[in-house]
Amino acid sequence: MKRIILQNPNKILRRISQVVRNEEFKSVDLKKILRDMNDTLEFEYDGVALAGPQIGINKRIFVVSGKVFSKPDGKNTVIKNLVCINPEIIKLSKDRKLMHEGCLSVRPIYGDIRRASRATIRAQDENGEYFEITGSGIIAEIFQHEIDHLNGILFIDNAINLKDDMPRTLEKQKKMK
Ligand SMILES: [Zn+2]
Repeated sequence: MKRIILQNPNKILRRISQVVRNEEFKSVDLKKILRDMNDTLEFEYDGVALAGPQIGINKRIFVVSGKVFSKPDGKNTVIKNLVCINPEIIKLSKDRKLMHEGCLSVRPIYGDIRRASRATIRAQDENGEYFEITGSGIIAEIFQHEIDHLNGILFIDNAINLKDDMPRTLEKQKKMK
């Protein structure tokens, strides 16, 4: 079910989210949360990722749209959304880049934020299995942005050049997290 995406300054966005406990994996409740997160993200044409607090769930979960993993030449290849539960950053590159960023919970503001250009995270999937994944560019940016959400941090806390006057045509090309 598509849920409403909470907007800054909702207090839920500022809470530290709770770890998902072992007994919650494979539960009906967790399955529903994941389904709602995927449905909500699906509905946002410019959305690339969504964290639990953004739909009012203070649990350490985020999902990344499969579209960021698809190759530009991939012919209609549908890649599943990546579900990350209890994610932790285990490695960040020293190399940092200024990235242009927006957030589904801070519409319609964009800004520039310095982020590691490569990030490795360890997380659990919907079955509780641990995995590690390394991403660069937009994927590294998403991992850092989403884990910030789970700690009550919004990109506007650390971004510069905040603007809310994105022209419509450009807005379409921007990816929101
Ligand atoms: Zn966000």
